[in-house]
Amino acid sequence: MAEIAANLKLIYNKISHAATKRTSEHRYYEPRLVAVSKLHSAELIVSAYEAGQRHFGENYVNELMEKTSNQLILEKCKEIKWHFIGSLQRNKVTKILTVPNLYIIETVNSDKLANALNNSWPRFRKSDDSKLNIMVQVNTSGEKEKHGCDITEVLTLVKHIINNCDNLKFVGLMTIGMYGYDTANGPNPDFLCLIKCREKINDELGIDIKNIELSMGMSTDYEQAIELGSTSVRIGTAIFGNRPQKNTLKEEKN
Ligand SMILES: *Cc1c(COP(=O)(O)O)cnc(C)c1O
Repeated sequence: MAEIAANLKLIYNKISHAATKRTSEHRYYEPRLVAVSKLHSAELIVSAYEAGQRHFGENYVNELMEKTSNQLILEKCKEIKWHFIGSLQRNKVTKILTVPNLYIIETVNSDKLANALNNSWPRFRKSDDSKLNIMVQVNTSGEKEKHGCDITEVLTLVKHIINNCDNLKFVGLMTIGMYGYDTANGPNPDFLCLIKCREKINDELGIDIKNIELSMGMSTDYEQAIELGSTSVRIGTAIFGNRPQKNTLKEEKN
């Protein structure tokens, strides 16, 4: 547990240091750390929270529901901000929108999913004019098993969200990117691709770059992502250590 605080401290320092290496045009914000707690216990989340961490990321709707109704988390993590970063099926939309402290859904990848979120949000929001924060997930590597929208569809999807989804707030773009890219080969092409997508949105839709976040970078490559302009890095392993297998966690709970 003390280890988590130490890991976080190291990562905060590395993030700050990487942020100083950005070009001047990218220096208008402090990058955010999202602690990816999927498959880790409520106790570990509490220790990260007590070490000052507020933003947490989860991939599975059911697991997120369990965690947000966990007594320990309810008691000790009142200001927690949940990021949903897993693939979201439309039939789970009404479920996920009940999550208290849901901060953002980073994985909107189709107009159908955007519409479903847009139509359901008024039933769940606490104040009449609050919008649901969303990011558009882009499949920058073009790998079939990845869930984001195709790079050729990003502009259309963002346009649809802005023009037709009044209850959603378009916050930015997210990518997972190819696993195991060796940064010795130069800047990660997935990161460069996401930056290009943002430029295109800026050109074509006139949205200021500063109002389009980039969620990119994980445990092994977050420093490089920040140097290139990432505004939000999603880090699991470097904070919490290796994840337990999905079924192991289930057994522990029984
Ligand atoms: C699991 C996961 C992460 C964190 O990965 P680590 O390598 O453990 O830092 C980040 N983003 C997404 C979408 C994930 O599923």
